[in-house]
Amino acid sequence: MTRFIAVVSGKGGVGKTTTSINLGVALKSLGKDCAVLDGNLTTPDVGLHLGVPNLPVTLHDVLEGRKSVINATYSHASGLKIIPADISFKALKKLSLKNLNNLFKGLKGTSEIVIIDCGAGLSKDVQSIMKFADEILIVTNPELTAVTNALKTIKIAEENNITTLGIILNRVKGIKGELSIKNVEAMIGHPVIGTIPETDDVRRSFNAKHPLVYYYPKSKASIAFKKLASGLIGENHEEDIEEKVGLFKSILLKIGLRK
Ligand code: ADP
Ligand code: MG
Repeated sequence: MTRFIAVVSGKGGVGKTTTSINLGVALKSLGKDCAVLDGNLTTPDVGLHLGVPNLPVTLHDVLEGRKSVINATYSHASGLKIIPADISFKALKKLSLKNLNNLFKGLKGTSEIVIIDCGAGLSKDVQSIMKFADEILIVTNPELTAVTNALKTIKIAEENNITTLGIILNRVKGIKGELSIKNVEAMIGHPVIGTIPETDDVRRSFNAKHPLVYYYPKSKASIAFKKLASGLIGENHEEDIEEKVGLFKSILLKIGLRK
């Protein structure tokens, strides 16, 4: 059985691609066979995020019926599989959604989890691809515009009987004026299941052309992505717990309460 999880938002630039890739690596590190599909067909950027914008076979070749999805699947050093889309203007002009059915048929059974990195907003292509998901994760930032725009996306998911797994609150700075988790939950009507802090490690790993969770596994945002991944597959995040216990033990040792 393959779980198709769409990562969606209302507003653009809230962190969908960052979340898709890093959640994918986190799931992979927990032993799940996972692929990220670039479902942002008009402005794709999974390849850009990983420093491979020009891969020879892409999702667009699959949608045009020229290649099978296996030919358009690549492996990152982390073990995460990616299925990139074509970033060229030519591919955008030729884009046809007719073969989406075949694409998803071909994907069934190839991985345990397929994360679909969707485009922003609710254009026809976003809505069409979202319909193939079993579940959605809503990415938002703790600000009113991002939260308001997410509501429409959820409405579309509900109309298509897609389960909303919850909200990922990304780029949390913990500053005054930011919407709180409680506020966001009350406004959207779904629980916040992941809180990802704002950190410069995201930009640094982007510049290094690697997912944050792979490049800086100990970054606070990486730990948050791993926690989210554990929650999605119903496991405890042992590493984090071990780290805390380890730290506690070393403090006790330091103050002489433990040998
Ligand atoms: P989307 O896919 O929703 O358009 P991206 O994942 O491309 O958004 O992220 C938009 C920008 O925000 C990128 O420059 C990315 O590096 C940055 N970003 C995303 N999440 C974080 C974070 N937690 N901390 C700092 N920068 C972030
Ligand atoms: Mg994106």
